[in-house]
Amino acid sequence: MEYGLGIKNNHLYFGGADTVELAKQYGTPLYVFDEQLIREYCRDFKNSIDRYYDGNGMVLYASKAFSCKEMYRIANDEGIGVDTVSGGEIYTALSAGFPAEKIFFHGNNKTNTELKYAIENNIGHIVIDDFGEIDRISEIAGEMGKTVTVMLRIKPGIDAHTHDFIKTGQNDCKFGFTLETGEAFEAAEKAINAKNINLSGFHCHIGSQIFSTDPFCLAAEVMANFIANVTKKTGHVVSELNLGGGFGIRYTDEDEPLPYSEFMNKVSGELKNSCNKFGIMVPKVFIEPGRSIVGPAGITLYTVGSIKTIPGIRTYVSVDGGMTDNPRYALYGAKYDAVIANKAEEPGGFVATVAGKCCESGDLIGENIKIATPETGDILAVLATGAYNYSMASNYNRIPRPAAIMVKNGEARVIIKRETFEDLISKDV
Ligand SMILES: *Cc1c(COP(=O)(O)O)cnc(C)c1O
Repeated sequence: MEYGLGIKNNHLYFGGADTVELAKQYGTPLYVFDEQLIREYCRDFKNSIDRYYDGNGMVLYASKAFSCKEMYRIANDEGIGVDTVSGGEIYTALSAGFPAEKIFFHGNNKTNTELKYAIENNIGHIVIDDFGEIDRISEIAGEMGKTVTVMLRIKPGIDAHTHDFIKTGQNDCKFGFTLETGEAFEAAEKAINAKNINLSGFHCHIGSQIFSTDPFCLAAEVMANFIANVTKKTGHVVSELNLGGGFGIRYTDEDEPLPYSEFMNKVSGELKNSCNKFGIMVPKVFIEPGRSIVGPAGITLYTVGSIKTIPGIRTYVSVDGGMTDNPRYALYGAKYDAVIANKAEEPGGFVATVAGKCCESGDLIGENIKIATPETGDILAVLATGAYNYSMASNYNRIPRPAAIMVKNGEARVIIKRETFEDLISKDV
């Protein structure tokens, strides 16, 4: 079984398939996913949560990273749940036959339409983000004669950056209830007393692309303390804790991710100690990896077009996509590695600024990317684009979104069709 990246006859392979052939067959730009890798990441998380939480845990794929029907089918097949942040994501999951009880619904401003839709469809957990939402869910559930299981999203007071973290200053964030000010406790009391609601536990998500276990350990301790407080003061037994996602992946050599079992090992140890210390049962634990399940399992193939050298400054290597299929550089200066797929064995001695085709100077895939000497017509593979690329894609400049294909053992199938010009005007009146 062949999966991941490989090189054969100077061509880049992914998932056992020749990416140059894929580009020829399906056109570019093209998102390519390796099914075996996605499944392996799902299993890694599932196995380690089963192991370190003694079977009392569950993995939820944070589907905003890459949401399409096939992705929900794979998650379901691997026996994990999903987290969603909109009616549209819930709709996509349900359309793919994903079991409603294994869906979590997040969001800092869920509309009543979305809440009704979620409650009607018996979505497993709703993660409440503000006081008003407690009332709205209580009322909607009452009208439908249902009881809704909820968690509260808490700001635990930990601001995790990529490599370091600080313990204050995080309260300025649009998500969740602040722990420090007593707001979180007040929300817990309100939820416990609200009709048609069952408060099962608390949620926190401390950031993204995190490489250290320390902020997760601190979050586990802070949350265990909070659960103990709520239990003691209200008598309500809190049995679930969702520790969010944010596990870092390798985009370039600057990134050094830990094995995920390492996170699970350390954090579970910390949580068990803390629960012991605060005198509570160890709750059922949920984690929400998004990027780390699909990020490294996807690449994007482009065709190189114009090459423009500005002497003494830089060389722009333009590709047939850009910020419309990958806005992450434009949004936050994200870094990527790239390989010329038809020159995969050639040394990467050329320093390129890879640019897109949109009418924005900031429309870049990246700067100072080392590749083999590029020529018009080459196929450029940008690596680790599986997360937050397709899901953030747009039709800016009326550029149709690329197709996505899934590769398994060298066999490819389309999982998202390429948009056509007709699609672009399909909603125009
Ligand atoms: C974005 C998000 C995640 C996933 O984050 P990754 O960095 O992709 O792992 C998990 N939970 C919540 C609530 C999120 O907003």
